[in-house]
Amino acid sequence: MAKKRDYYEVLGVDRGASADDIKKAYRKLAIKFHPDKNPDDPTAEDKFKEAAEAYSILSDENKRQRYDQFGHAGVGGASGGGAGGFGGGFSMDDIFSQFGDIFGDSSPFGDIFGRQGGNGRRVRKGSDLRIKLKLNLEEVANGVEKKIKVKRHVTCNTCGGNGAKNGTSLTNCNGCNGTGQVRKVVSTMLGQMVSTTTCPTCNGDGKIISERCDSCAGEGRLLQDDLITLNIPGGVAEGMQLSMSGKGNVPARGGVAGDLLIVIEEEEDALLKRDGNNVVFDMHLSFIDAALGTSVEIPTIDGKARINIESGTQAGKILRLKGKGIKDLNGYGKGDQLVHINVWTPQQLTSDERSTLESLRHSPNFQPKPGKNEKGFFDKMKDFFH
Ligand SMILES: [Zn+2]
Ligand SMILES: [Zn+2]
Repeated sequence: MAKKRDYYEVLGVDRGASADDIKKAYRKLAIKFHPDKNPDDPTAEDKFKEAAEAYSILSDENKRQRYDQFGHAGVGGASGGGAGGFGGGFSMDDIFSQFGDIFGDSSPFGDIFGRQGGNGRRVRKGSDLRIKLKLNLEEVANGVEKKIKVKRHVTCNTCGGNGAKNGTSLTNCNGCNGTGQVRKVVSTMLGQMVSTTTCPTCNGDGKIISERCDSCAGEGRLLQDDLITLNIPGGVAEGMQLSMSGKGNVPARGGVAGDLLIVIEEEEDALLKRDGNNVVFDMHLSFIDAALGTSVEIPTIDGKARINIESGTQAGKILRLKGKGIKDLNGYGKGDQLVHINVWTPQQLTSDERSTLESLRHSPNFQPKPGKNEKGFFDKMKDFFH
């Protein structure tokens, strides 16, 4: 699979383009590359689809934001490896059902979006299903395979989806002679006008069932629990939506299944906090351990790990455990674990403890002498983020 082009580049707009600029740019491309206008150019349809896909993301404020932040993977369109079975791309049918409204009925461009399927009727698409998926930090960090049960409409095997009893074929509808549409001629002041509407007898199918399938009562589909395997890539985040095409509902009496939309929910971890692709652990040391050095066990995403604390460690120091963070959604390696060191000051003291400390109060080595190495908070932050 070729690498996906940047959506802004596809539409030829800059990243700060207004909604209006994006719409204008898309309209221009849609007209230029419309397949009906370019019958001799086999690449036109691909360009047309590419523009439609870019527009579908950049015209939606939420999706645009996710795209800006996470790239193609953030909007379920990751190419190549990584995102498993998600993405799927656009069919011409999607484009016409979703973007027909951009030009409006009265627009001179209305006709290019009125295109219909090869048989004169649009292929029906079933409804999408949306589920929420809760993931813990480890699953978010490394990715996970989840098997989930989804109640969805699937094609009836007995009739193969047409709703007719055991392979009986369907008969043409008398109301519309099998076209699925009826024409009505209305006289107006401007003359006779012809309007076309969906045939009420067959609901636009053009066919009617003489004897119904027993299994599905003629609906062509059954509602059942379907076991679906989700391959969630590492690095997803709260609120992100992944889509699996064809795992939504099958429409009644045949057609293409809708999509399964998976909305990610992140479970908060009791010990580790997420910060982008890094995880942060707040560690509390006694000042004796900080002064003498020690070895401590700390939690990481992949279980416990032992780290050494050097003698003379200052409060506020941040240790970095390389590659112990969260996988990057776009495949750019892994984040780190940052261990933020706090030094615990005792809040209660026995008289013995107090006198031990009193005896050290004026020792020369206990007097603060911050040097160049003891950076302030802001300098430390700068080191980590630049
Ligand atoms: Zn059936
Ligand atoms: Zn009919």
